[in-house]
Amino acid sequence: MAVSTPEPRSQPWGAPASASAQRLLLLGSGELGREVALEAMRLGLEVVAVDAYGHAPAMQMAHRSHVIDMQEGAQIRQLVEAEQPSWIVPEVEAIATQTLIELEQEGWNVVPTARATRLTMDREGIRRLAAEALKLRTSPYRFAETKAEYHRAITEIGLPCVVKPVMSSSGKGQSVVRNQADSDPAWTYALQGGRGKAQRVIVEGFVPFETEITLLTVRAKDGTYFCPPIGHRQADGDYRESWQPCPLHPDTWVECQRMAQTITDALGGWGLFGVELFIAGAIDQPQTVYFSEVSPRPHDTGMVTMVSQNMSEFELHVRAIAGLPIGEITLSQPGASAVILAPGDSAEPKFTGMAEALTVPTSKLRLFGKPRCHLNRRMGVALALGETIAQARDRAITCASQVQVLL
Ligand code: AMP
Repeated sequence: MAVSTPEPRSQPWGAPASASAQRLLLLGSGELGREVALEAMRLGLEVVAVDAYGHAPAMQMAHRSHVIDMQEGAQIRQLVEAEQPSWIVPEVEAIATQTLIELEQEGWNVVPTARATRLTMDREGIRRLAAEALKLRTSPYRFAETKAEYHRAITEIGLPCVVKPVMSSSGKGQSVVRNQADSDPAWTYALQGGRGKAQRVIVEGFVPFETEITLLTVRAKDGTYFCPPIGHRQADGDYRESWQPCPLHPDTWVECQRMAQTITDALGGWGLFGVELFIAGAIDQPQTVYFSEVSPRPHDTGMVTMVSQNMSEFELHVRAIAGLPIGEITLSQPGASAVILAPGDSAEPKFTGMAEALTVPTSKLRLFGKPRCHLNRRMGVALALGETIAQARDRAITCASQVQVLL
């Protein structure tokens, strides 16, 4: 099921703003896009950052920025025609992917491919590809659009199960149904939390996993590369801390790589992917691996690679996009990340406690510069290394806990 991918775009590039500049159009300007922008600029590329609001994190780093509604295809097309990008790089899922497909057919270069952005923008496309076409193990699942279908789905899947809008991210609209009384509130919550017009949910069997990992997988000109596995902890469907490496049984690690290779080959294109896997069973025996999701772009849990690897996930992404070789990915030391969340809403959030935070050995802070916040919005991340994974996690959490967001 691997798709063939044309050679990466590769031609001489001149300085940003010159006639021969090679331009990267970043659709989405959050904290992940910000790091992609920085890595692209280090290689002398021109960066144009786009989002739905001004002063977004990546815009603060870019050569130029634009505020548009990225779900409006006409606005994306107008911008592409005006900016003439060498690469269109989606950083978020909520984009008019049909327009990306049309632009790609016209010869524009969408990273990794327009089809990959289309399939991964909703849970149904990627779930059907992984489970039905590629036969990767996933939780059992059903899709439902009406209350009757939903109740039938719950009966068929059994309790406990997880209910999610097909189009959502960061845990929005997601809940676990443990008994019959939970089922109606979960339906209402899913419909409220979904993105776009779709009133469609997925009901998934609850996987009692031991751990969950992100396997960063790079499709580059010189081959497919796997970063050491990243373990993470989620709360309310959003990530709170991550660490690298995450110990796995050797057979489990082989299976994880096989699954990541299979799904990324099927998506094709050039770039870095975040393959999310659930690992069930204890580490002293071969564990059962479930495919959960894949992002065709850097992953939030992968921010740890800014300290733990010789090349961060952002550098890897830009290299792969630009047709440059990867060579070797090495882990310098166990590393960890811990998020800094907003405790409420503010039109002018401020940070304090950074001096105390950075007394933690090896720690680093990334504050994203988001101009506004709401409850639990991710405002920054603390990063740290350790002799052991436990030490790195402890340091990252201690560092993050010192930083306060004032509303
Ligand atoms: P998702 O938005 O699908 O990545 O889900 C967010 C988080 O919810 C995951 O990282 C898991 O921690 C948890 N989760 C999602 N689906 C399931 C499932 N089928 N079984 C158990 N936990 C799940």
